[in-house]
Amino acid sequence: MKLKHLPSEFQEALPVLEKIKAAGFEAYFVGGSVRDALLGRPIHDVDIASSSYPAETKKIFSRTVDIGIEHGTVLVLENGHEYEITTFRTEDVYVDYRRPSQVSFVRSLEEDLKRRDFTINAFALDEQSHVIDKFDGLADLKQKRLRAVGNAAERFNEDALRIMRGLRFAAVLDFDIEEETFAAMKEHASLLEKISVERSFIEFDKLLQAPFWRKGIAYLLASQAYNHLPLLDNSAENWQRFLSDLPETFAFSSSEQAWAAVLLYLNIKNSKSFLKQWKTSNDFQKTVEKILAIYNLRQIKEPDKADVYQYGESLMLLAEELRKAQGLPADFERIQQITSSLVIHDKHEILVKGGDLIAELGLKPGPELGKLLNRIEMLIVAGDLKNEREAILDFVRKELECE
Ligand code: ATP
Ligand code: MG
Repeated sequence: MKLKHLPSEFQEALPVLEKIKAAGFEAYFVGGSVRDALLGRPIHDVDIASSSYPAETKKIFSRTVDIGIEHGTVLVLENGHEYEITTFRTEDVYVDYRRPSQVSFVRSLEEDLKRRDFTINAFALDEQSHVIDKFDGLADLKQKRLRAVGNAAERFNEDALRIMRGLRFAAVLDFDIEEETFAAMKEHASLLEKISVERSFIEFDKLLQAPFWRKGIAYLLASQAYNHLPLLDNSAENWQRFLSDLPETFAFSSSEQAWAAVLLYLNIKNSKSFLKQWKTSNDFQKTVEKILAIYNLRQIKEPDKADVYQYGESLMLLAEELRKAQGLPADFERIQQITSSLVIHDKHEILVKGGDLIAELGLKPGPELGKLLNRIEMLIVAGDLKNEREAILDFVRKELECE
């Protein structure tokens, strides 16, 4: 089969394939970009597989970076783009259920394609747009079906991350998981406990943000994979509520919003320790916590200027979207209006600094001054004090008189 229209990303990368071929080796486009091109989806990262060994690849191109020589990957800089060129390889004996204990470079494309996870990820595309399809991936694409390459049980036993990848691809592509593949996922789900949490997080996070996340969660439940992910054991009922509560058409706007919803539905009180177990960054955890704090605050009151000032418009809107998804009253306009009415958005915009109060009014540095500055900040935010030098100094003078 020939790809009718070669996306521009591949066209731009053709000279790279041609150079490798001119040096006497084989080279193909492989991986997710070929799958996405066949599906007419936007493509990212054009990956290239080649029969040339890393040292040979490096001789062909003038600008290369060693980014994973031990796995056979060389980064090539060509025409202002970066391409990962990976030597055809096989992977042997997975001792830790994640990393192959040894990768062997081979000269055969087919050997390389065999080690790939799903048939729809195991295409190769040559420089004349011929699609090489050794495992009937085209039929699977047509049927919107996710099927492991080769023996599914063996493949998940080798590398359980493939289970998470499978759930993620179902959610991203709206694909059904083929029966035998799904049975093997279920059978090997407990091996997820051996997978690095960071990697599981990446896949789960992509699943949650995918347009068909409901399908991904349904498979997560049916496979019982959740029982083997950090702090998700016995969470089936809560996930059911997550599915039934949020409308069919709802999609999460950001990763932090999605995880805030997860924490909400799983009834997690200590979000810090939960997200720590999932090994997310501090920034990520703080943002999720802010969305939850706004959500909780909104359960008791309408947002005011101080709230919008404290949390910022975008997080306020994310929390409001969750309310709307749950059928609770939501008022996006109010948040937008308050945002545009704010006189300052950050305390650095206050026209009088602590140093001015020390120099002009003889105040002493220390906690009292800090408290006074906070009061000034909140009065300005509330609209009860003008953000003008004289107005602020006057206010402070009056305060001093009262003492
Ligand atoms: P995405 O669109 O998210 O980049 P992708 O399919 O390109 O999806 P990558 O992680 O970029 O995923 O991997 C590139 C290719 O490498 C995959 O298409 C697949 O052929 C192969 N691959 C990646 N991870 C695995 C794995 N754990 N087991 C087997 N093959 C894998
Ligand atoms: Mg990719």
